Amino acid sequence: MSAPERGPGRPTPPIALADPGAAPARIAARRVEPDAALLARLGDACAEVVTDPAQLGEASRDWWPLAAFWAAEGALPARAAAVARATSRDEVAAVLALCNEARVPVTVAAGRSGVCGSSLPLHGGVVLDLCGLAGVVEVDDASLLVRVRPGTFGDRFEDALQREHGLTAGHWPQSLALSTVGGWIACRGAGQLSTRYGKIEDMVAGLEVVLADGRVVHTGGHPRAAAGPDLTQLFVGSEGVLGVVTEAQLRVHPRPAGERRAAFAFERFEDGLEACRRILRRGATPAALRLYDATEGVRHGGPEGRSLLLALDEGEPALVDAGFLVVEAECAAAERLDEALVERWLQHRFSVVPFEKLVARGLVADTLEISAPWSRLASIYAAVGEAVRALPDTVAVSAHQSHAYSDGACLYFSMAARPAAGAGGGGDAWYRDAWDAATRAVLARGGSLSHHHGVGLNRARFVAEALGTGLEVLAGVKRVLDPHGILNPGKLGLPSPFGPVGWP
Ligand SMILES: Cc1cc2nc3c(=O)[nH]c(=O)nc-3n(C[C@H](O)[C@H](O)[C@H](O)COP(=O)(O)OP(=O)(O)OC[C@H]3O[C@@H](n4cnc5c(N)ncnc54)[C@H](O)[C@@H]3O)c2cc1C
Repeated sequence: MSAPERGPGRPTPPIALADPGAAPARIAARRVEPDAALLARLGDACAEVVTDPAQLGEASRDWWPLAAFWAAEGALPARAAAVARATSRDEVAAVLALCNEARVPVTVAAGRSGVCGSSLPLHGGVVLDLCGLAGVVEVDDASLLVRVRPGTFGDRFEDALQREHGLTAGHWPQSLALSTVGGWIACRGAGQLSTRYGKIEDMVAGLEVVLADGRVVHTGGHPRAAAGPDLTQLFVGSEGVLGVVTEAQLRVHPRPAGERRAAFAFERFEDGLEACRRILRRGATPAALRLYDATEGVRHGGPEGRSLLLALDEGEPALVDAGFLVVEAECAAAERLDEALVERWLQHRFSVVPFEKLVARGLVADTLEISAPWSRLASIYAAVGEAVRALPDTVAVSAHQSHAYSDGACLYFSMAARPAAGAGGGGDAWYRDAWDAATRAVLARGGSLSHHHGVGLNRARFVAEALGTGLEVLAGVKRVLDPHGILNPGKLGLPSPFGPVGWP
């Protein structure tokens, strides 16, 4: 896959906000303000410290859909007291040490494309902006390893790998130009070609992380190791609550020489799931194996009333051909469609429906991605659809299978409502109820809380249920690494010394 047109290399807001300097914060939470002495010390410690109200407003939002709908009403979810823009590991360490000493919350942010509110500064405090800590540091072509700084936006990273080194990371989230390497790692992200290249946790070979008190830890760096548990994975998915990633070593691949494409129509979504399961079971790993239900299939040019499967593989031509023999064999009972449908998908794979359009149509909407073993996917698909459709005001629920493994897959649901009471108060209530209904339907049937968007604020209320005693283990790790709880309080369902947060 070739790199798309370059984005701006800085955060892109989800929707215009009329007056970011004056917009009120809608989430109620105890506020912490750094005093003038701390601000002065932060200014000495790092490249830039900003307290301009308009810039603070913009730095205090991400792509959490509910907050995007609030923005249409002129409100922010939260408001930072200061933004510190760091350009080196040492600056990050200095900012953290100062805030730790002063007990001021620090929320790390980069692309701010997170969709669960994970980079929102709920208690004010300092937003630590890492967009200036960017660029490829080193390429070890023989070992297919790259060292990269966390604030590197995805499109720029892939562009540099492809053009300058003939390599690819193979990580293609829809938000490629909106998101950064550090954000991918912190959220345990997934790209569209994950069935061949893996999720980000499969790509990370090692990390440099700054802890809350400013100490630096290096993890990994070997093909495999047996020196205790894998500390790299402790920080992958930690959403800025355990430390700040200041450099990553990622596994990369030669640019692919071969490619195959195919499209199929299945009578039922369940039939398509079964074909995907059998393809993975036989060891084929086509880069993309996207199965749309009937509602979503037509949007991608598939036939009315049927499920659409798009298959795409890339890599060493002989391996791609061999894998495609398995794909074709397992889809033999389905109708073969024009493979131009794959090109059509590729053309739109980074497109996003503007929130302004949804607001104009009176809609509130979100997406929800989970994973489960193959044996449970069909029942989860049915149960989530039923639970969300039963809510008043729901206008649509649909899903596709987006990432497949030998043991299961990710189901990616889209849900929308047109609240009778308008998008404001009515929208909030439907939004909360839809997440409650869908998540409980998933957890009750053995699905995961999230596959790649993470937890952030929106899913924090479900973590105890999803992790059980695991949450105590995570909270124990948090206490050791961040004893004053300054790192991203209010997220991942962890206890926080800064008190409760008014959502939901
Ligand atoms: C249109 C759209 C499509 C999307 N498609 C996908 C997709 O296909 N796949 C996917 O996985 N996600 C997708 N996402 C979600 C989002 O892009 C990812 O979660 C992404 O990884 C976030 O990266 P970011 O740089 O924007 O991080 P931010 O939003 O800035 O931060 C996210 C979290 O990571 C933490 N964080 C950021 N950098 C660091 C760091 N260096 N050290 C420690 N913590 C850090 C923050 O504190 C926060 O908790 C999509 C989002 C949008 C808006």
